[in-house]
Amino acid sequence: MKTVNQKPTLLSKLYCVMFGHNYLVSKKITHHVKEYACSNCNHELTTNGNGSLIELSPKYREINEILLSIHKKKITRLSREVISPTVYRMTS
Ligand SMILES: [Zn+2]
Repeated sequence: MKTVNQKPTLLSKLYCVMFGHNYLVSKKITHHVKEYACSNCNHELTTNGNGSLIELSPKYREINEILLSIHKKKITRLSREVISPTVYRMTS
């Protein structure tokens, strides 16, 4: 018997209740903030501002999306700053 569907079954939920969740990093937001999902029941967690793990609510999912876009912009800006002196020299 093979379950292709990712929907948590009663058995997998029971397993987590008895043995604890098996969290894996599902999404890396920044160096400090990550999202975790249980490989067993798909229960999701995230790191909050204090660095502790909390349940990934729709509100926190939204916050993480914003954090991720800010983080990406920062990386783009930083790489542009590194590249720009060379570009400047080439054009002048
Ligand atoms: Zn679980």
